[in-house]
Order: sequence, then C-alpha cells, then structure tokens
Amino acid sequence: MYGKGGIGKSTTSSNLTCRLASKGYHILQIGCDPKHDSTRNLLAGSTQPTVLNVMKEKPPSEIDLDDLIMTAPCGADCIESGGPEPGIGCAGRGIITAMNELKRLGLNKSDYDVVLYDVLGDVVCGGFAVPLRKDYSNVVYLVTSGEFMAVYAANNILRGILNHSPDVPRVGGIILNCRGMEDEDDLVRRFSEAVGIPVVCRVPRDPHFAMSEKEGRTVIDMFPESEPAIQYNALMDNVIGQIEGDAPRYLSNPLTDEELDLLLKGKPVRSDKGQCIRSIRIKPSDGEACAARSAAMSLSGIKDLAVVIHGPRACGYNMCNIRDVHFLGDVKVNPDMDLTYTDNMLCTDMVDADSIFGGADKLNGMLERLCSEGRRYIAIITACIPGIIGDDVSACIRNIKSKYPDVTILDVRTDGNLTGSAFNGTRMAREAIMSLIDDYPEKERGLVNVISSSGMNSGLDRRRIISLLDSLGYGLNSILFNRCTIDEIRRAGRAEFNIPASKRDLSPEYRQMYEDHGMVISDRLLPCGFIESVVWLRAFENDSNKDSVEKYIESCTARYQDVVKRTSKTLDGKRIYLIGWIGRPMDWMVDALKDSGAIVVKAAMSGPITGDPLPSGRHDEVPKSSASTTNDILADLEELKPDLILGTVRAANRLNIRNGPLPKNTISFEASCDLLEYAADLIRAPIESSWKRGCCR
Ligand code: ADP
Ligand code: MG
Repeated sequence: MYGKGGIGKSTTSSNLTCRLASKGYHILQIGCDPKHDSTRNLLAGSTQPTVLNVMKEKPPSEIDLDDLIMTAPCGADCIESGGPEPGIGCAGRGIITAMNELKRLGLNKSDYDVVLYDVLGDVVCGGFAVPLRKDYSNVVYLVTSGEFMAVYAANNILRGILNHSPDVPRVGGIILNCRGMEDEDDLVRRFSEAVGIPVVCRVPRDPHFAMSEKEGRTVIDMFPESEPAIQYNALMDNVIGQIEGDAPRYLSNPLTDEELDLLLKGKPVRSDKGQCIRSIRIKPSDGEACAARSAAMSLSGIKDLAVVIHGPRACGYNMCNIRDVHFLGDVKVNPDMDLTYTDNMLCTDMVDADSIFGGADKLNGMLERLCSEGRRYIAIITACIPGIIGDDVSACIRNIKSKYPDVTILDVRTDGNLTGSAFNGTRMAREAIMSLIDDYPEKERGLVNVISSSGMNSGLDRRRIISLLDSLGYGLNSILFNRCTIDEIRRAGRAEFNIPASKRDLSPEYRQMYEDHGMVISDRLLPCGFIESVVWLRAFENDSNKDSVEKYIESCTARYQDVVKRTSKTLDGKRIYLIGWIGRPMDWMVDALKDSGAIVVKAAMSGPITGDPLPSGRHDEVPKSSASTTNDILADLEELKPDLILGTVRAANRLNIRNGPLPKNTISFEASCDLLEYAADLIRAPIESSWKRGCCR
C-alpha cells in the first residue's frame, strides 16, 4: 500500500487487514513508516516496539521474532519497522535494515495468506522502494485523493515500480480516499484513464474515521454498517481476487512531467505514450580512488593533527591500514623517524544503526574526547555515509568550538562523491591545512620547503635532502606535509622557495594553491639519479656556493665510482629488462647500469596509462615500448631471456628469471648507488629466491 504521507494508507491498510482477518485470512501488516502508527488502530491504540528500536537496544543474538510481532484482537499479526527522528539519519536505510533483520530472524511469509506492507510512498529513495521488490510484494495498491500532490506522489510510485519491474504487471489498482474537494473524482478518473489503471475502491471522507481513531479502532470494527465500511468490501474483494489469481494486475506506465502538467490543467493527456524510459542510471566509475581516503592520507603525516574520519568503521579500518603500509615504507627509508604520532588517525566507527539514526552523536563524542585530552588541532574528514544521511557536521563543529574556542577544526567534507575523486580529496585537505599558513611578506634567505603531494610514503629520505641542500648553502624549513608539525606549517611561508618532490606537486592546481599563500614554487623537482642530481645542483649554483657545490659533486662522484667498480664485478655483461611506471622516467637507471657494464635489453612501460620510459634522449640505442601489456612483456622475456628483470610483471617467477620490483621513489646521487647495489644483490641471489630480496628502498 503506497501513497503520499497522510493520504490514508494506514487507515486503509488497517481497515483492510481487519476485514480480511474477520473473514478468516491469516494476515501480517508491516508498517514501513518512521511514524510507526500503521498498526495503532489494530492494537487498541497502543504503539508496538519497532524493529529498529529493538535492534538499537538488544544485541542481535538476543532478538527474537516475538519481540517484534504483536497479534491484534482481530487476529492479524502486526510489525512496525520504525525509523529515526525526523531530520536526522536515514529512514530509507532504516527500512532496508528492518527488512533484512526480519529475514535474518526467519520471518516466514508463507505462514500468512497476505502480507501487507504499509509504506510511506513519496518514493524518495531506494529504501522506501524495497517493499516494491518482487521478493517482497506481488501487488501494489496506490492510495490517492484528488489533490494534485497526492496524484503526483502516486505517479512517482508508478515510476518506482517501472524501475523495479518494467515487464511484469504489478499494480492492483488505485484506491481513492476522498478529501471531499470539488472535482476530486474527475481528476482521479482522468489520471486512472491516462495510466490505464482502474480505481478499485472509493472511500468517502467520513467523520466515523475520527471517531474510531479516538478509540484506537478501525471503522470496520467499530462502525461495520457505516458507508466507508461498506466501500472497503470492494477492496477486500480485489485482494481476495489477487490471492485466488483471478483479479487483473496492471503494468506501470507513469506520466511524464509534461503529461502531469496537462492533467492538472484539465487538458487531455496523450494516451499513446509509448514505452517509458527507466530513470535510474548508474554512472560508470571514473576510475578514481576514494576522496576521503586521499584527504586522510594527505593529512596523516602531520604530527600534531588528529585526523578524524567520520564514517563507517570499515572505511576507518581501510584508511588506517593503508596509512600503516605507507608508514612502514617511510620507516624503511627513514629508520630514525619519529613514530609517536602513528595514533593520530581516528574513526567515528559508524555502524548500521548510525546510518539510520544519524551519526552526529558519535562525532560529537569523538570531538569532545579529543578536546578534553588536550588536542588543539583536529581535522574532520567525512566519508560517504554522513553526507548521504545528512549529518550536520557544521553543528558538531559549532558545538565543540563553543566549549573549546581555542581548538582549530579543519572541516574536510569529502562525502557525497561515490565514484571517488582522489584529486579532489587531496585538494580539499590541502586547502584546509594551508589555511593555517601565516603570512610572511619577508622571506628568509636560503630557507627551503620540500613539498610532497602524498602525506605519507613519499619515500623521501630526510638526511639526503638535508645533505643536498646543505651543499647549496640552503637549510630545510620543512617537508610539507610529511612528518611535519602544525607549527612548521604555520611558518611554511617564511621559506625563500619550495621544491616539489614529484611531478604531481607541479600541477597547475597545486601550484596555484601554494602561490595563493605567497609561496614560490621552483620548477625543478627533487633530482633522482646521478646525472639528474649534478644538473639540479648546478642549476641552483651561484657565486657564493659554487665551491661547495662542486666539492659536493666531487665527493658524490667518488662514492658513485666506488660503487660502480664494486658492482661491475657482478653486473658486467648482464642483460637487464626494465619495466617502468607512469611518471617514473628510467634514464637514470640505464645510466647507472651501463656504467657498471650491464646491458639494458629493453625499457618497457606497462599498464593502461603509459608514458615514455626514457624521455631524456640519452639512450636512443635501448629498445623501448611505452604501452606494453603483460602478454607483450612475457613474449619479450621468452625471446630476450634477460638475466634480470627490474619491475613488476605477473608470472615472472615462473619464467625462471631473476627479478625484483623497481626501487622505491628516491632521490639524489645515492639513488644510483642504491640501484647498483640492489641489482648486484639480485643477480647474486639464488634464482628461485631473488624476488625475496626485492625491496630496495
Ligand atoms: P497515512 O498512513 O497515509 O500517513 P493515515 O491513514 O494515518 O495516513 O491518515 C491520516 C489521517 O486522515 C488520520 O487521522 C485518518 O483518520 C484520517 N483519514 C484517513 N482517511 C479518511 C477519510 N476517508 N475520511 C476522514 N478521515 C480520514
Ligand atoms: Mg501511515
């Protein structure tokens, strides 16, 4: 039984139930309206415990069907799904949960002759459409009056039915529950004709309803001789006809908005409407990752910031997990790094009930806890659910700010983008954190920030950065936003300029954000590899640091040559196959491998997004491919039979070729030294276990 709120669904349902029960039918009425008043007039005016309330109060193992079903004096069984308070949570989600719970508890619908769902029917979301599904109901009745909004809602329900079963007749008929307005019958008749569905029952507006409602009874029960009681017979006959299989059902053929407009204006509505178009379309994913996750990652490297993920426990688990994996990678590169802030990522741990009753309480509780523990900086990152159910995060922030005015809350609303946009998540997190940067019109000469687009896992070795900058006479102000403090971020603006760690940090959007805070971004990325480091250092060279730069290059060269000499004993003449990733040029690898006498047999770039693996032009003799599939690579390997594969290809271990993943993103001269040591190590390893060593920094 579907229809607009207040139109008389519960009245119709309970009268129908009462009449069918009196005829000996075993009937179950399930109220699916957060108002939970569907069965009130069957239960002598008392309200029964709702499924969702019982679920809130008891653990699943202690809930019994008997807690949820009440048997009315007329003999019918009654259930109310329940729902949240108006304005919070998600009532539609509540219906889904309640229906699932009834299933879990083993509610057997075949015990009944009729199961009647009384559903709030503005069909605003998928939750309210659940009882429309074929595994719940066979027949749908539309309750309407002659008010336009009621007809509009009835038409919307037809749209919902069309989306669920376009080919199977499901509609039993229209029930006209009169409001007593003029022309009421005419409008409903014209609607009925236009959609091709008959009015199976017409109930007049009648004072007996108010009288029986006062007693918590149905009209049928209290005034069996009244006009409405007589009219309900037609509905009962139709329902019995549905049970017996001899009453017709109709296809859903809703009106378009234009046709509804014609109907309202009293104009003829076309009858040859043709096939309606399904209105639900699922947008194909744009292949990007979760925005909330990206935001959380970009803030998780800030030591004294508490990052609160307001969302399901599962999202929090996922994000903390990834953060930890990144963290392990970072510890590897920076063995002496500070680990005290690994607990700065928290989750409000929303569970199913919160998505129905709202999650604001949990967020309030979390903020209160953090503030009372003395945290001064908190970021709130919203996952999808709070956005979908409309948690008022702003109110939570206002609330906590009124108690703790000194606390800074970063409000990062990454909810509401189900297809994900990793870039947007990072951008929003950046905007929030950068709002803390103080204004420094006077820059401090020689002070530099390194900016890294991923908060964690940048693979940036702090000592190497400091040593590079030191040779130039520069000092490191901070690595933004990786292992830095809020104070460092506040003072980020005083640095003379900023060096991006990766190509991503050079993207125009990011650059603009930094420039808006008066920060100057260098065009030169942190260097990776020997030649790149020399070129990079010389680009920053000036009269005052020339000597120290050249001396530094000299000492790095000496060390590099030492490594080349040592590793060439193993690598000389060895044939090496490289498999690269997007945005990771491999020229520096070819330089080093060639220096130690190895032969690069091919540089492949694999995967759907590709790029030139050797963009420098220094290695035109090396065959390269910018878009290799796994099969291409396997064919290459069969043919070339290299001694070593650097890079990842599925099934490489089966080929009996030594292999290991590419070295982690790294910087400076040492990148080349590390690579040679790593390659030599892999070559020396027993062939069947070489891959185990594959974790060069
Ligand atoms: P819904 O379940 O669609 O929200 P209800 O069945 O609760 O609507 O009806 C709303 C109010 O309208 C109730 O107070 C009910 O008694 C009254 N009502 C319903 N149908 C009639 C009618 N035909 N004549 C007079 N009052 C009615
Ligand atoms: Mg109702």
